[in-house]
Amino acid sequence: LAGRDFRQEDTVIRIGDVEIGGGQIQVFSGPCAVESWEQLLEAALAVKKAGARILRGGAFKPRSSPYAFQGLEEQGLKLLARAREETGLLIVTEVMDPRSIDLIAEYSDILQVGARNMQNFHLLRELSKINKPILLKRGLSATIEEWLMAAEYIMSGGNYDVILCERGIRTFETATRNTLDLSAIPVIKSLSHLPIIVDPSHGCGKWQLVRPMSMAALAAGADGLMIEVHPNPAEALCDGPQSLKPHKFVSLMDELRGVAGLM
Ligand code: PEP
Ligand code: MN
Repeated sequence: LAGRDFRQEDTVIRIGDVEIGGGQIQVFSGPCAVESWEQLLEAALAVKKAGARILRGGAFKPRSSPYAFQGLEEQGLKLLARAREETGLLIVTEVMDPRSIDLIAEYSDILQVGARNMQNFHLLRELSKINKPILLKRGLSATIEEWLMAAEYIMSGGNYDVILCERGIRTFETATRNTLDLSAIPVIKSLSHLPIIVDPSHGCGKWQLVRPMSMAALAAGADGLMIEVHPNPAEALCDGPQSLKPHKFVSLMDELRGVAGLM
């Protein structure tokens, strides 16, 4: 179902007047984790001012350490919904557990499956039954074939609205957090009709690399970007070193508009 042989034309996912895929470039941006109303609102206003349409923010966080901040959970979802009311931005947030799908779907427009859950087949099967788009991140060490098979799990249950997200893979390199595989974009484009976006924040782990890799991703044909933005990266509870300050994000978006005819 995810393959070009099943469907030749690019899939376009429409949410209100926002189109994902089929030539439109969409930017999904916001903090790694929702931390407070003040933090989220400031990030959301920057996202809106920059001209992006989709606000990201984790309420349930998949942290490597059980002692790290795990997210505000339902309280975080409520803040995201309030930010949507305030700004008109669409909301994307991560789902980690089949038991919280209904709760998260109540508050968000797109549900994100994180890299660590790309092959959580029970989760994928349950997400195939809902009628909201799924943002499916590439697994930490997943091949492109495994990634497309994960999309197939969601589609085979009836949910065809899958957005792929390249977020870097594990290699021997330590200068970057992951190795952002930009060749995945043309490979996916040849194999699949699904939209693919790129997350240079998690892909590189350093805010300084977000601008060049955003440019490169769009040059390689990505349908959009996921970029972490935090009003005060030094104090962020999660992923500060890879988060852009709001003014940096606004100027990056201006630049991208120049090169890519963004939105
Ligand atoms: C995130 O988007 O904040 C996240 C946890 O991403 P990934 O699953 O790609 O690590
Ligand atoms: Mn993050």
